[in-house]
Amino acid sequence: MDTIAIIGGGAAGLMAAVEAALTLRATGARGTVVVYEADAERVGRSILATGNGRCNISNAEISADVYRNAEFVGHALMALQGCYVSERGGATIKATTANPVLERFSDLGLCVREESEGRLYPQANKATSVLDVLRAGADALGVRVQVGKCAERVDAPRDGHGCYNIRFADRSVGHAAAVIVAVGGRAAASVQLPEPLVCQPLRPVLGPLRVTKADAKLTRQLNNIRVRGAIALMRGGEQVARERGEVMFRDYGVSGVAVFNLSRLARPGDTLAVDFLPDIPPQQMGHFLLARRKRMQRCLGAAPTCERFLSGLLLPAVAGVLLRRAGLAPAAEFAKTDAANLAAALKGFALTVEGIGDERQCQVRRGGFPVGAFNPETCESKAHPGLFVVGEALDVDAPCGGYNLHWAWSSGMLAGHAAAQRAHCSQNTGGNGRRAR
Ligand SMILES: Cc1cc2nc3c(=O)[nH]c(=O)nc-3n(C[C@H](O)[C@H](O)[C@H](O)COP(=O)(O)OP(=O)(O)OC[C@H]3O[C@@H](n4cnc5c(N)ncnc54)[C@H](O)[C@@H]3O)c2cc1C
Repeated sequence: MDTIAIIGGGAAGLMAAVEAALTLRATGARGTVVVYEADAERVGRSILATGNGRCNISNAEISADVYRNAEFVGHALMALQGCYVSERGGATIKATTANPVLERFSDLGLCVREESEGRLYPQANKATSVLDVLRAGADALGVRVQVGKCAERVDAPRDGHGCYNIRFADRSVGHAAAVIVAVGGRAAASVQLPEPLVCQPLRPVLGPLRVTKADAKLTRQLNNIRVRGAIALMRGGEQVARERGEVMFRDYGVSGVAVFNLSRLARPGDTLAVDFLPDIPPQQMGHFLLARRKRMQRCLGAAPTCERFLSGLLLPAVAGVLLRRAGLAPAAEFAKTDAANLAAALKGFALTVEGIGDERQCQVRRGGFPVGAFNPETCESKAHPGLFVVGEALDVDAPCGGYNLHWAWSSGMLAGHAAAQRAHCSQNTGGNGRRAR
Protein backbone atom coordinates (compact mmCIF):
# COMPACT_ATOMS: atom_id res chain seq x y z
CA MET A 1 0.00 0.00 0.00
CA ASP A 2 1.36 3.39 -0.98
CA THR A 3 0.31 6.37 1.06
CA ILE A 4 -0.31 9.67 -0.65
CA ALA A 5 -0.17 12.34 2.04
CA ILE A 6 -1.72 15.71 1.42
CA ILE A 7 -0.67 18.51 3.76
CA GLY A 8 -3.47 21.06 3.94
CA GLY A 9 -7.18 20.47 3.42
CA GLY A 10 -8.05 23.70 1.60
CA ALA A 11 -9.02 24.15 -2.03
CA ALA A 12 -5.97 22.58 -3.67
CA GLY A 13 -5.54 19.87 -1.03
CA LEU A 14 -9.12 18.59 -1.12
CA MET A 15 -9.17 18.56 -4.91
CA ALA A 16 -5.80 16.74 -4.94
CA ALA A 17 -7.23 14.15 -2.56
CA VAL A 18 -10.27 13.51 -4.74
CA GLU A 19 -8.16 13.26 -7.88
CA ALA A 20 -5.59 10.96 -6.30
CA ALA A 21 -8.32 8.65 -5.01
CA LEU A 22 -10.06 8.62 -8.40
CA THR A 23 -6.80 7.79 -10.20
CA LEU A 24 -5.94 5.02 -7.74
CA ARG A 25 -9.34 3.53 -8.40
CA ALA A 26 -9.06 3.96 -12.20
CA THR A 27 -5.61 2.33 -12.36
CA GLY A 28 -6.31 -0.35 -9.78
CA ALA A 29 -3.27 0.73 -7.76
CA ARG A 30 -3.27 -0.05 -4.06
CA GLY A 31 -2.98 3.09 -1.98
CA THR A 32 -4.35 5.31 0.73
CA VAL A 33 -4.95 9.01 0.48
CA VAL A 34 -4.61 10.96 3.73
CA VAL A 35 -5.29 14.66 4.22
CA TYR A 36 -3.50 16.27 7.18
CA GLU A 37 -5.19 19.54 8.12
CA ALA A 38 -3.83 21.98 10.72
CA ASP A 39 -7.27 23.32 11.68
CA ALA A 40 -8.40 21.62 14.86
CA GLU A 41 -11.96 21.05 13.71
CA ARG A 42 -12.45 20.85 9.97
CA VAL A 43 -11.09 20.93 6.45
CA GLY A 44 -12.02 23.58 3.90
CA ARG A 45 -12.52 26.56 6.16
CA SER A 46 -10.60 28.72 3.65
CA ILE A 47 -13.10 27.83 0.90
CA LEU A 48 -16.04 29.04 2.99
CA ALA A 49 -14.56 32.54 3.19
CA THR A 50 -14.23 32.98 -0.57
CA GLY A 51 -16.39 35.22 -2.74
CA ASN A 52 -18.05 36.79 0.32
CA GLY A 53 -19.28 33.34 1.29
CA ARG A 54 -20.49 32.56 -2.25
CA CYS A 55 -17.21 31.16 -3.67
CA ASN A 56 -16.28 32.50 -7.09
CA ILE A 57 -15.14 29.02 -8.04
CA SER A 58 -13.63 29.65 -11.50
CA ASN A 59 -14.10 31.76 -14.61
CA ALA A 60 -15.78 30.97 -17.92
CA GLU A 61 -12.72 32.32 -19.71
CA ILE A 62 -9.48 31.07 -18.29
CA SER A 63 -6.30 32.36 -19.87
CA ALA A 64 -2.84 31.68 -18.50
CA ASP A 65 -1.93 35.29 -19.33
CA VAL A 66 -3.72 36.63 -16.24
CA TYR A 67 -1.46 34.65 -13.92
CA ARG A 68 1.90 35.47 -12.39
CA ASN A 69 4.37 32.96 -13.90
CA ALA A 70 2.04 32.62 -16.87
CA GLU A 71 4.29 30.25 -18.81
CA PHE A 72 4.33 27.71 -16.00
CA VAL A 73 0.58 28.03 -15.49
CA GLY A 74 -0.03 27.73 -19.24
CA HIS A 75 1.86 24.42 -19.36
CA ALA A 76 -0.01 23.21 -16.30
CA LEU A 77 -3.44 24.08 -17.70
CA MET A 78 -2.60 22.44 -21.02
CA ALA A 79 -1.40 19.33 -19.23
CA LEU A 80 -4.64 19.22 -17.27
CA GLN A 81 -6.66 19.34 -20.47
CA GLY A 82 -4.59 16.48 -21.87
CA CYS A 83 -4.79 14.48 -18.70
CA TYR A 84 -8.53 14.85 -18.56
CA VAL A 85 -9.15 14.07 -22.21
CA SER A 86 -7.08 10.89 -22.14
CA GLU A 87 -8.86 9.76 -18.99
CA ARG A 88 -12.18 10.04 -20.80
CA GLY A 89 -10.90 8.37 -23.95
CA GLY A 90 -10.63 11.65 -25.82
CA ALA A 91 -13.76 11.01 -27.85
CA THR A 92 -16.37 13.22 -26.33
CA ILE A 93 -14.53 16.16 -24.82
CA LYS A 94 -12.79 18.84 -26.81
CA ALA A 95 -9.49 19.67 -25.15
CA THR A 96 -9.68 23.26 -26.30
CA THR A 97 -13.04 24.07 -24.78
CA ALA A 98 -13.73 21.87 -21.76
CA ASN A 99 -12.83 23.26 -18.38
CA PRO A 100 -11.53 20.14 -16.60
CA VAL A 101 -12.11 21.73 -13.21
CA LEU A 102 -15.80 22.27 -13.94
CA GLU A 103 -16.08 18.78 -15.40
CA ARG A 104 -14.68 17.32 -12.20
CA PHE A 105 -16.99 19.42 -10.05
CA SER A 106 -19.86 18.31 -12.25
CA ASP A 107 -18.83 14.68 -11.63
CA LEU A 108 -19.03 15.45 -7.92
CA GLY A 109 -22.53 16.87 -8.36
CA LEU A 110 -21.89 20.62 -8.29
CA CYS A 111 -23.83 22.86 -10.67
CA VAL A 112 -22.46 26.31 -11.43
CA ARG A 113 -23.84 29.45 -12.97
CA GLU A 114 -22.19 32.42 -14.64
CA GLU A 115 -22.34 36.04 -13.51
CA SER A 116 -20.73 39.19 -14.93
CA GLU A 117 -17.22 39.00 -16.39
CA GLY A 118 -17.49 35.22 -16.64
CA ARG A 119 -17.38 34.70 -12.87
CA LEU A 120 -18.67 31.24 -11.96
CA TYR A 121 -20.50 30.56 -8.70
CA PRO A 122 -22.18 27.47 -7.31
CA GLN A 123 -25.84 27.22 -8.34
CA ALA A 124 -26.85 27.31 -4.66
CA ASN A 125 -24.92 30.60 -4.33
CA LYS A 126 -23.14 29.37 -1.19
CA ALA A 127 -19.53 28.35 -0.70
CA THR A 128 -20.77 25.58 1.56
CA SER A 129 -22.13 23.70 -1.44
CA VAL A 130 -18.63 23.60 -2.98
CA LEU A 131 -17.12 22.28 0.22
CA ASP A 132 -20.00 19.82 0.67
CA VAL A 133 -19.41 18.11 -2.69
CA LEU A 134 -15.65 17.97 -2.13
CA ARG A 135 -16.02 16.44 1.32
CA ALA A 136 -18.70 14.00 0.20
CA GLY A 137 -16.59 13.00 -2.81
CA ALA A 138 -13.46 12.51 -0.70
CA ASP A 139 -15.45 10.51 1.81
CA ALA A 140 -17.03 8.26 -0.83
CA LEU A 141 -13.62 7.60 -2.37
CA GLY A 142 -12.12 6.53 0.94
CA VAL A 143 -9.92 9.57 1.58
CA ARG A 144 -8.86 9.72 5.24
CA VAL A 145 -8.89 13.13 6.91
CA GLN A 146 -6.93 13.99 10.05
CA VAL A 147 -7.57 17.40 11.57
CA GLY A 148 -5.39 19.15 14.13
CA LYS A 149 -2.25 17.94 12.29
CA CYS A 150 0.06 20.88 11.64
CA ALA A 151 3.01 19.79 9.51
CA GLU A 152 6.32 21.50 10.26
CA ARG A 153 8.81 19.65 8.09
CA VAL A 154 9.02 17.14 5.27
CA ASP A 155 12.16 15.00 5.05
CA ALA A 156 13.11 13.34 1.78
CA PRO A 157 13.76 9.58 1.62
CA ARG A 158 17.40 8.69 2.37
CA ASP A 159 19.41 8.13 -0.83
CA GLY A 160 16.18 8.57 -2.81
CA HIS A 161 14.66 5.31 -1.48
CA GLY A 162 11.88 4.68 1.01
CA CYS A 163 9.29 7.10 2.30
CA TYR A 164 8.98 10.79 2.94
CA ASN A 165 8.70 11.62 6.64
CA ILE A 166 6.30 14.35 7.70
CA ARG A 167 6.99 15.87 11.10
CA PHE A 168 4.03 17.45 12.87
CA ALA A 169 3.83 20.10 15.58
CA ASP A 170 2.47 17.45 18.00
CA ARG A 171 5.80 15.57 17.51
CA SER A 172 4.18 12.71 15.61
CA VAL A 173 5.67 11.58 12.30
CA GLY A 174 3.79 10.46 9.19
CA HIS A 175 5.23 8.37 6.37
CA ALA A 176 4.23 8.55 2.72
CA ALA A 177 5.41 7.46 -0.70
CA ALA A 178 4.23 10.78 -2.12
CA VAL A 179 3.53 14.10 -0.42
CA ILE A 180 1.42 16.94 -1.80
CA VAL A 181 2.04 20.23 0.00
CA ALA A 182 -1.15 22.33 -0.19
CA VAL A 183 -0.80 24.68 2.76
CA GLY A 184 -1.79 27.90 0.94
CA GLY A 185 0.08 31.21 0.84
CA ARG A 186 -0.14 32.29 4.47
CA ALA A 187 1.47 29.11 5.77
CA ALA A 188 3.86 28.31 2.91
CA ALA A 189 6.91 29.50 4.83
CA SER A 190 6.01 27.52 7.94
CA VAL A 191 6.61 24.10 6.39
CA GLN A 192 10.25 23.25 5.82
CA LEU A 193 10.81 21.21 2.67
CA PRO A 194 14.03 19.34 1.78
CA GLU A 195 16.76 21.33 0.03
CA PRO A 196 16.94 22.90 -2.49
CA LEU A 197 13.25 23.80 -2.00
CA VAL A 198 13.19 27.12 -0.18
CA CYS A 199 10.14 29.29 0.30
CA GLN A 200 10.70 32.83 -0.98
CA PRO A 201 9.41 35.80 1.06
CA LEU A 202 5.65 36.21 0.87
CA ARG A 203 3.75 39.47 0.69
CA PRO A 204 0.01 40.07 0.66
CA VAL A 205 -1.55 41.28 -2.59
CA LEU A 206 -5.05 41.52 -4.06
CA GLY A 207 -6.19 43.90 -1.37
CA PRO A 208 -6.96 47.57 -0.63
CA LEU A 209 -4.33 50.26 -1.14
CA ARG A 210 -3.13 52.87 1.34
CA VAL A 211 -2.42 56.37 0.04
CA THR A 212 -0.22 59.14 1.43
CA LYS A 213 -1.36 60.98 4.56
CA ALA A 214 -2.14 64.11 2.54
CA ASP A 215 -4.37 62.18 0.13
CA ALA A 216 -5.95 60.18 2.95
CA LYS A 217 -7.30 63.47 4.29
CA LEU A 218 -9.53 63.49 1.21
CA THR A 219 -10.41 59.78 1.07
CA ARG A 220 -11.33 59.91 4.77
CA GLN A 221 -14.12 62.34 3.92
CA LEU A 222 -15.51 59.72 1.53
CA ASN A 223 -15.05 56.75 3.89
CA ASN A 224 -17.25 53.79 2.82
CA ILE A 225 -18.61 55.58 -0.27
CA ARG A 226 -18.63 53.40 -3.38
CA VAL A 227 -18.56 54.77 -6.91
CA ARG A 228 -18.80 52.89 -10.18
CA GLY A 229 -15.95 54.25 -12.23
CA ALA A 230 -12.53 53.35 -13.49
CA ILE A 231 -9.12 53.57 -11.90
CA ALA A 232 -5.74 53.70 -13.58
CA LEU A 233 -2.35 52.89 -12.11
CA MET A 234 0.27 55.36 -13.33
CA ARG A 235 4.05 55.22 -13.02
CA GLY A 236 6.35 57.95 -14.35
CA GLY A 237 3.46 59.43 -16.32
CA GLU A 238 2.73 56.11 -18.08
CA GLN A 239 -0.36 54.01 -17.52
CA VAL A 240 0.58 50.61 -16.08
CA ALA A 241 -2.96 49.22 -15.91
CA ARG A 242 -6.58 50.36 -15.81
CA GLU A 243 -9.60 48.68 -14.25
CA ARG A 244 -13.28 49.49 -14.51
CA GLY A 245 -15.62 48.73 -11.65
CA GLU A 246 -16.44 49.70 -8.14
CA VAL A 247 -14.04 51.90 -6.19
CA MET A 248 -14.65 52.17 -2.47
CA PHE A 249 -13.08 55.00 -0.51
CA ARG A 250 -11.63 54.23 2.89
CA ASP A 251 -10.10 56.36 5.60
CA TYR A 252 -6.66 55.03 4.63
CA GLY A 253 -7.11 54.96 0.84
CA VAL A 254 -9.17 52.95 -1.63
CA SER A 255 -10.64 49.46 -1.86
CA GLY A 256 -12.93 47.41 -4.14
CA VAL A 257 -12.32 44.79 -6.81
CA ALA A 258 -10.73 47.24 -9.26
CA VAL A 259 -8.25 48.37 -6.59
CA PHE A 260 -7.57 44.77 -5.49
CA ASN A 261 -6.54 43.93 -9.03
CA LEU A 262 -4.25 46.97 -9.31
CA SER A 263 -2.65 46.11 -5.97
CA ARG A 264 -0.90 43.17 -7.69
CA LEU A 265 1.07 45.70 -9.77
CA ALA A 266 1.21 48.80 -7.53
CA ARG A 267 4.44 50.10 -5.98
CA PRO A 268 4.91 52.84 -3.39
CA GLY A 269 5.04 56.18 -5.20
CA ASP A 270 2.74 55.10 -8.04
CA THR A 271 -0.32 57.24 -8.74
CA LEU A 272 -3.90 56.05 -8.80
CA ALA A 273 -6.12 58.13 -11.07
CA VAL A 274 -9.83 57.68 -10.36
CA ASP A 275 -12.16 58.38 -13.29
CA PHE A 276 -15.63 59.18 -11.98
CA LEU A 277 -17.23 59.30 -15.45
CA PRO A 278 -15.55 56.52 -17.46
CA ASP A 279 -18.26 56.45 -20.12
CA ILE A 280 -17.30 59.95 -21.30
CA PRO A 281 -14.03 60.00 -23.29
CA PRO A 282 -11.48 62.54 -21.94
CA GLN A 283 -11.57 64.63 -25.13
CA GLN A 284 -15.37 65.05 -24.80
CA MET A 285 -15.33 65.94 -21.12
CA GLY A 286 -15.00 69.71 -21.58
CA HIS A 287 -17.84 69.71 -24.09
CA PHE A 288 -20.00 67.60 -21.74
CA LEU A 289 -19.51 70.03 -18.85
CA LEU A 290 -20.18 73.15 -20.92
CA ALA A 291 -23.28 71.64 -22.52
CA ARG A 292 -24.56 70.66 -19.07
CA ARG A 293 -23.94 74.19 -17.78
CA LYS A 294 -25.79 75.73 -20.72
CA ARG A 295 -28.76 73.40 -20.29
CA MET A 296 -29.03 74.00 -16.54
CA GLN A 297 -28.70 77.76 -17.03
CA ARG A 298 -31.47 77.72 -19.63
CA CYS A 299 -33.78 75.75 -17.33
CA LEU A 300 -32.93 77.47 -14.01
CA GLY A 301 -32.64 80.99 -15.37
CA ALA A 302 -29.11 81.53 -14.03
CA ALA A 303 -25.74 79.80 -14.19
CA PRO A 304 -25.56 77.15 -11.42
CA THR A 305 -23.20 77.34 -8.49
CA CYS A 306 -20.38 74.78 -8.51
CA GLU A 307 -22.18 72.73 -5.85
CA ARG A 308 -25.48 72.86 -7.73
CA PHE A 309 -23.70 72.03 -10.99
CA LEU A 310 -22.51 68.66 -9.61
CA SER A 311 -25.76 67.81 -7.83
CA GLY A 312 -27.49 65.00 -9.73
CA LEU A 313 -24.18 63.87 -11.17
CA LEU A 314 -22.24 62.90 -8.02
CA LEU A 315 -23.00 62.29 -4.35
CA PRO A 316 -22.65 65.56 -2.38
CA ALA A 317 -19.64 64.27 -0.41
CA VAL A 318 -17.84 63.25 -3.61
CA ALA A 319 -18.71 66.58 -5.24
CA GLY A 320 -17.32 68.47 -2.25
CA VAL A 321 -13.97 66.66 -2.39
CA LEU A 322 -13.69 67.05 -6.17
CA LEU A 323 -14.45 70.77 -6.02
CA ARG A 324 -11.72 71.20 -3.43
CA ARG A 325 -9.30 69.31 -5.69
CA ALA A 326 -10.31 71.50 -8.63
CA GLY A 327 -9.84 74.65 -6.52
CA LEU A 328 -13.49 75.68 -6.90
CA ALA A 329 -15.67 77.18 -4.14
CA PRO A 330 -19.01 75.31 -3.79
CA ALA A 331 -21.06 78.52 -3.55
CA ALA A 332 -19.34 80.30 -6.44
CA GLU A 333 -20.89 80.36 -9.90
CA PHE A 334 -19.61 77.58 -12.12
CA ALA A 335 -17.89 79.61 -14.85
CA LYS A 336 -17.09 78.35 -18.33
CA THR A 337 -13.40 78.75 -17.50
CA ASP A 338 -13.79 76.30 -14.58
CA ALA A 339 -14.60 73.39 -16.92
CA ALA A 340 -10.98 72.37 -17.57
CA ASN A 341 -10.06 72.10 -13.87
CA LEU A 342 -13.21 70.20 -13.02
CA ALA A 343 -12.76 67.86 -16.00
CA ALA A 344 -9.24 67.05 -14.79
CA ALA A 345 -10.50 66.24 -11.28
CA LEU A 346 -13.40 64.13 -12.59
CA LYS A 347 -11.32 62.10 -15.05
CA GLY A 348 -8.12 61.75 -13.03
CA PHE A 349 -8.59 62.21 -9.29
CA ALA A 350 -5.00 61.45 -8.31
CA LEU A 351 -3.93 59.60 -5.17
CA THR A 352 -0.37 58.54 -4.36
CA VAL A 353 0.11 54.91 -3.32
CA GLU A 354 1.99 54.08 -0.12
CA GLY A 355 1.33 50.35 -0.01
CA ILE A 356 -1.23 47.72 0.94
CA GLY A 357 -4.00 49.22 3.05
CA ASP A 358 -5.15 46.32 5.18
CA GLU A 359 -3.26 43.03 4.97
CA ARG A 360 -6.11 41.09 6.57
CA GLN A 361 -8.26 41.82 3.54
CA CYS A 362 -5.71 40.59 1.00
CA GLN A 363 -6.91 37.53 -0.87
CA VAL A 364 -3.56 36.01 -1.81
CA ARG A 365 0.10 35.96 -0.86
CA ARG A 366 2.69 36.53 -3.57
CA GLY A 367 5.89 34.51 -3.31
CA GLY A 368 6.22 31.02 -1.90
CA PHE A 369 7.99 28.19 -3.69
CA PRO A 370 9.52 29.28 -7.02
CA VAL A 371 7.86 27.53 -9.96
CA GLY A 372 11.19 26.80 -11.64
CA ALA A 373 11.82 24.02 -9.13
CA PHE A 374 8.71 22.11 -10.28
CA ASN A 375 7.49 20.26 -13.34
CA PRO A 376 4.54 22.30 -14.66
CA GLU A 377 2.73 19.21 -15.91
CA THR A 378 2.53 17.69 -12.44
CA CYS A 379 3.70 20.32 -9.89
CA GLU A 380 6.23 17.68 -8.79
CA SER A 381 9.61 18.79 -7.46
CA LYS A 382 12.38 18.31 -10.01
CA ALA A 383 14.81 17.48 -7.21
CA HIS A 384 12.51 15.22 -5.18
CA PRO A 385 10.28 12.88 -7.19
CA GLY A 386 7.10 12.20 -5.28
CA LEU A 387 7.04 15.61 -3.58
CA PHE A 388 4.51 18.08 -4.97
CA VAL A 389 3.63 21.69 -4.12
CA VAL A 390 0.27 23.08 -5.28
CA GLY A 391 -2.09 26.04 -5.03
CA GLU A 392 -1.07 29.31 -3.48
CA ALA A 393 2.04 27.84 -1.86
CA LEU A 394 3.57 28.09 -5.35
CA ASP A 395 4.51 31.53 -6.67
CA VAL A 396 1.32 31.88 -8.72
CA ASP A 397 -1.40 34.50 -8.27
CA ALA A 398 -4.02 36.16 -10.42
CA PRO A 399 -6.62 38.95 -10.31
CA CYS A 400 -10.10 38.58 -8.80
CA GLY A 401 -12.60 36.65 -10.90
CA GLY A 402 -12.23 33.01 -9.83
CA TYR A 403 -8.72 32.62 -11.24
CA ASN A 404 -6.97 31.94 -7.94
CA LEU A 405 -9.32 29.14 -6.99
CA HIS A 406 -9.12 27.81 -10.55
CA TRP A 407 -5.38 27.52 -10.06
CA ALA A 408 -5.83 25.79 -6.69
CA TRP A 409 -8.24 23.20 -8.16
CA SER A 410 -6.14 22.72 -11.33
CA SER A 411 -2.78 22.28 -9.62
CA GLY A 412 -4.41 20.00 -7.05
CA MET A 413 -5.86 17.83 -9.82
CA LEU A 414 -2.52 17.59 -11.62
CA ALA A 415 -0.59 16.63 -8.51
CA GLY A 416 -3.23 14.22 -7.22
CA HIS A 417 -3.35 12.45 -10.57
CA ALA A 418 0.45 12.30 -10.89
CA ALA A 419 0.98 11.06 -7.32
CA ALA A 420 -1.47 8.20 -7.87
CA GLN A 421 0.01 7.38 -11.28
CA ARG A 422 3.35 7.15 -9.54
CA ALA A 423 1.98 4.61 -7.11
CA HIS A 424 0.50 2.65 -10.00
CA CYS A 425 3.80 2.58 -11.93
CA SER A 426 5.84 1.74 -8.89
CA GLN A 427 3.57 -1.22 -8.08
CA ASN A 428 3.68 -2.43 -11.69
CA THR A 429 7.42 -2.07 -12.13
CA GLY A 430 8.49 -2.75 -8.56
CA GLY A 431 10.51 0.42 -8.93
CA ASN A 432 10.28 3.87 -7.45
CA GLY A 433 7.72 5.19 -9.85
CA ARG A 434 10.00 7.62 -11.61
CA ARG A 435 8.68 6.34 -14.90
CA ALA A 436 5.22 7.49 -13.90
CA ARG A 437 4.67 9.90 -16.75
C1 LIG B 1 -11.37 36.49 1.91
C2 LIG B 1 -10.91 35.75 0.67
C3 LIG B 1 -11.78 35.60 -0.39
C4 LIG B 1 -11.36 34.94 -1.54
N1 LIG B 1 -12.26 34.77 -2.56
C5 LIG B 1 -11.87 34.13 -3.68
C6 LIG B 1 -12.80 33.87 -4.73
O1 LIG B 1 -13.99 34.13 -4.61
N2 LIG B 1 -12.33 33.27 -5.86
C7 LIG B 1 -11.01 32.91 -6.01
O2 LIG B 1 -10.65 32.41 -7.06
N3 LIG B 1 -10.13 33.09 -5.01
C8 LIG B 1 -10.52 33.67 -3.85
N4 LIG B 1 -9.64 33.83 -2.84
C9 LIG B 1 -8.28 33.23 -2.96
C10 LIG B 1 -8.39 31.71 -2.71
O3 LIG B 1 -9.14 31.48 -1.54
C11 LIG B 1 -7.00 31.07 -2.57
O4 LIG B 1 -6.23 31.41 -3.67
C12 LIG B 1 -7.14 29.56 -2.46
O5 LIG B 1 -7.93 29.19 -1.35
C13 LIG B 1 -5.76 28.91 -2.32
O6 LIG B 1 -5.96 27.53 -2.16
P1 LIG B 1 -4.88 26.65 -1.38
O7 LIG B 1 -5.46 25.29 -1.26
O8 LIG B 1 -3.56 26.83 -1.98
O9 LIG B 1 -4.81 27.28 0.08
P2 LIG B 1 -5.95 27.34 1.18
O10 LIG B 1 -7.29 27.25 0.54
O11 LIG B 1 -5.63 28.52 2.00
O12 LIG B 1 -5.77 26.02 2.03
C14 LIG B 1 -4.63 25.77 2.81
C15 LIG B 1 -5.02 24.76 3.88
O13 LIG B 1 -3.85 24.27 4.50
C16 LIG B 1 -4.02 24.27 5.91
N5 LIG B 1 -2.68 24.38 6.49
C17 LIG B 1 -1.90 25.48 6.55
N6 LIG B 1 -0.71 25.16 7.11
C18 LIG B 1 -0.74 23.84 7.39
C19 LIG B 1 0.19 22.94 7.96
N7 LIG B 1 1.40 23.36 8.36
N8 LIG B 1 -0.16 21.65 8.13
C20 LIG B 1 -1.39 21.21 7.73
N9 LIG B 1 -2.32 22.03 7.18
C21 LIG B 1 -1.99 23.33 6.99
C22 LIG B 1 -4.91 25.48 6.15
O14 LIG B 1 -5.55 25.37 7.41
C23 LIG B 1 -5.87 25.37 4.98
O15 LIG B 1 -6.97 24.52 5.26
C24 LIG B 1 -10.03 34.45 -1.65
C25 LIG B 1 -9.17 34.59 -0.56
C26 LIG B 1 -9.60 35.22 0.58
C27 LIG B 1 -8.65 35.36 1.75
